[in-house]
Amino acid sequence: MTKPIPQPGILDIALYQGGASSAPGVSNVVKLSSNENPFGPSEAAVKAVAVAAHQMHRYPEIDGASLRAALAAHYDLDADRIALGVGSDEILSNICNGYAGPGDEVIYTEHGFSMYRICALASGATPVVVPENQRVVDVDNILAACTDKTRVIFVTNPGNPTGTFIPVSELERLADAMPAQAVLVIDGAYEEYAEGYEGGAELAASRPNVVMTRTFSKLFGLGGMRVGWAYADRAIIDVLNRLRNPFNLSTIAIEAAKAALADTAHTKRCLTENARLRAWLSGALEAHGVMSDRSGANFVLARFDDEDEANACEDYLRSQGLLVRRVAGYGLPNCLRITVGDEPSCRRVAHAIGAFKGGAR
Ligand code: PMP
Repeated sequence: MTKPIPQPGILDIALYQGGASSAPGVSNVVKLSSNENPFGPSEAAVKAVAVAAHQMHRYPEIDGASLRAALAAHYDLDADRIALGVGSDEILSNICNGYAGPGDEVIYTEHGFSMYRICALASGATPVVVPENQRVVDVDNILAACTDKTRVIFVTNPGNPTGTFIPVSELERLADAMPAQAVLVIDGAYEEYAEGYEGGAELAASRPNVVMTRTFSKLFGLGGMRVGWAYADRAIIDVLNRLRNPFNLSTIAIEAAKAALADTAHTKRCLTENARLRAWLSGALEAHGVMSDRSGANFVLARFDDEDEANACEDYLRSQGLLVRRVAGYGLPNCLRITVGDEPSCRRVAHAIGAFKGGAR
């Protein structure tokens, strides 16, 4: 019997791997595997969802206009140049769907976010993976990989899972020298956590082919609500709006995001705690002989001697109820990505890694 045949490339897609969320048989589990906000959502967002729930029989705003207006006011941007997505994942995917197809090339870096490959293959395009320089994005390597077939270039800044970031001047250099037909995506899922880095909004405002993508899943604590957004030239926003589903964001997601954005006391506290505990955690790991690069995100990338040691450590941490992320799939087999949790979680994970290094297995 003949069977339906998926489009070329679709069966090359490996299923997206999320961070572990359970450790069977272990109690007191702490999830440090998905870079979620350990302090939870803003209470104001929780209340806004409860109120909005009474409207669930109605369709949501067709284009999330009230959230776009709130974002524009909050960040001093133009609401017409914002598109919303069901998480920034939807936006990354629609950038590929809108700008790349069979025969085209989509560039990303060797430790770049795993969705880029999925998005490229789903659109029928060819993924092109570019080396980084010691876990840092290298603009010259990206430029060297550009061809007349390049349609999309993804840069995660700060990187996931590396945590490293390059300055806006480097992104500007890339935007100036890359082929004019390509779209540069500056994926700023962790932008707020990187001190001294301003996310590329100005670049997206001043270039016709630069998109900045952002999310409510990290700092704003709304991973379960699925809210992302893009800032770009109107022509790109128009393409993204044509491709997204109508009513893509639910009413509760829109209301949660507006309330979370307005609760600056909560985000400020989360940022301060993240910066303090991130420094503490990398210092504590270093004291146990486990190095990490300076992170501009809400996680640290812990480097072990080799893949076997990293895997053994992840197993040991899981047995202790501590869930962290293996990142061999990101070309970093000797590393574990550890979300910066609240203080007790940071202390627990540092202590457990110390015990592991001291011989506990
Ligand atoms: N970009 C990067 C670099 C990420 O790490 C993530 C989340 N893991 C996303 C985009 C997608 O985030 P979301 O779809 O939750 O907005």
